[in-house]
Formats: sequence, structure tokens, C-alpha cells
Amino acid sequence: MKKDIHPKYNSEVEVRCDCGARFTIGSTADKIHTEICYQCNPLYTGEKRIVDTAGRVEKFKQRIEKTKTFKVKKPSKVRENKKQIKSNKKAK
Ligand SMILES: [Zn+2]
Repeated sequence: MKKDIHPKYNSEVEVRCDCGARFTIGSTADKIHTEICYQCNPLYTGEKRIVDTAGRVEKFKQRIEKTKTFKVKKPSKVRENKKQIKSNKKAK
């Protein structure tokens, strides 16, 4: 190992999770704060829950709602042309 280039390794660093869980791991950081850990992640708990930290799920749902109210307007020229074609056929 080269001297003076490696960060100090702490073998017991406390990790605090938003769910309230605390455990120790080895790390170069002094303390660690997480939003999700192995005790509350739905993958480990088997619970069906949406983990949303930045409101992304809410934004996506809003976008979906917007598309429901959006209607495609046909250009009126196309309709007029179709009417003309029909009337032309009748005339013949
Ligand atoms: Zn947790």
C-alpha cells in the first residue's frame, strides 16, 4: 500500500435509516444516513409499497391524468375534403 493516499477506514460506522433502524458497517465515512435499508426495503420485507423519495410517482400519476383529458382534434380541412369527395361521387 502506498503511504498517505488512502482514506482512514472505520470498521464500526453507525448507519441510521429513516425507518429508525440502526446498524454498524465498515466504511471510510464517519457516519451514514440512508433513506432506505435492508430492514425497510420492500424487496426484503416482501411488502407491496411504493418507495418514493422525490415525488416522482406523484408526478407520473399527474401526467397520466393529463393524457386522459387530452383529445386529438382532427383538422377540419380533412373533413371538408371528405364531404366534397362524397358529394362529387353522388353527383356522378
Ligand atoms: Zn430502513
